[in-house]
Amino acid sequence: MIRADDVTRVGVVGAGTMGSGIAHVVGLAGISCRLVDVDTEALGRARGSIESNLTRQVRRELISPDEAEAALGRIKTDWNLDTMGDAEVVVEAASERPALKFELFEQLSSIVAADTLLASNTSSISITEIAARAAAPARVIGMHFMNPVPVMRLVEVIRGLETSDEATTLTLGLCKRLAKTAVLANDFPGFVANRILMPMINEAVYCLMEGVADIEAVDTVMKLGMNHPMGPLALADLIGLDTCLAIMRVLHAELGDGKYRPCPLLAKYVAAGRLGRKTGRGFYDYAGG
Ligand code: NAD
Repeated sequence: MIRADDVTRVGVVGAGTMGSGIAHVVGLAGISCRLVDVDTEALGRARGSIESNLTRQVRRELISPDEAEAALGRIKTDWNLDTMGDAEVVVEAASERPALKFELFEQLSSIVAADTLLASNTSSISITEIAARAAAPARVIGMHFMNPVPVMRLVEVIRGLETSDEATTLTLGLCKRLAKTAVLANDFPGFVANRILMPMINEAVYCLMEGVADIEAVDTVMKLGMNHPMGPLALADLIGLDTCLAIMRVLHAELGDGKYRPCPLLAKYVAAGRLGRKTGRGFYDYAGG
């Protein structure tokens, strides 16, 4: 398997919030990036957001204008998955649907070279299960970036049951090249980040539902009392309430413990289409920005 320092071509599947952020940090690390999405409008939006995020980094003097321009120049967008053929590493960041990820890993296995590393950015789907769909499960791994990718330093690296030591070493080295700190975790529902974060958010919604305190009070307690940069309800709005609910359902179903029961009020907000910032309304109202 290739050494992390020798990687020159990375493919990213899915050009949404996470895929565009991953392409951004790959381009900035001096690596060519092919960003693929079935939705050509998503590709246009991704390019726009990468450009504006790079510009923000220039304004803050974190990178030079030349570095920003070069990074953007390294990112090519396409709708066709076959263009991943020469990638040495592929990071899948498509929508969080098990059937979609299973199909993508089957397809990718027949497109890429035999020794290509296939990573998934999934938040909650089992890496072992995804890997079982690939031709070579030993070369499949979880690379769980945090949102927003260019800002957050952590990548949770998740080894599936069959993930090889070589694939793990390559992934850890690649994280380093992307200026990220990698933390290794084993493949259990929610890994580490969401196993801890989502029950906290869920409990905050229970506090609201049971009338323990109102929205602002819950968030203020966690901000000022625990020094969290953001309250759990504001954070849920940022992540998306549908995503939070989906992850709680995975934790509940797969760990089988009542402590992971999704809060009915969270399910009610999702049913009403109040998904957080992305729909303009969640626990808070974002109408008017
Ligand atoms: P998103 O909805 O913003 O983007 C997903 C993209 O995948 C869409 O543009 C969609 O068109 C594309 N897509 C769907 N089917 C495809 C296919 N067959 N081929 C190529 N592209 C396809 O979602 P997101 O928030 O960027 O999440 C992507 C992944 O990252 C998910 O697995 C999610 O769990 C994970 N994740 C999300 C966050 C977060 O905070 N949003 C954090 C960590 C991990």
